[in-house]
Amino acid sequence: MPSCKDITNHTSEYLDRHMPWHKRIGYWLHLLMCVHCKRYVDQLKLTISTIGRTQDATPPDVSDEQIKDISKCLQEQMAKTDRE
Ligand SMILES: [Zn+2]
Repeated sequence: MPSCKDITNHTSEYLDRHMPWHKRIGYWLHLLMCVHCKRYVDQLKLTISTIGRTQDATPPDVSDEQIKDISKCLQEQMAKTDRE
């Protein structure tokens, strides 16, 4: 069975499912018995999920060309509104 140090050193491998199944079983058993490592892995999962959500909330990259198009469109809309 892996030690607490093994758990912390290979958490990303475990979470990314890049760990062979026989190692995953040992890892999983350790997490069932060790509250400290369980807490560590849970916090890491929460951090990863929070970062994922934050990245989803960032605006998409907009090129200079797209900004010019949007600006031109807004100016046309404003000019059209002024004429009405
Ligand atoms: Zn542990």
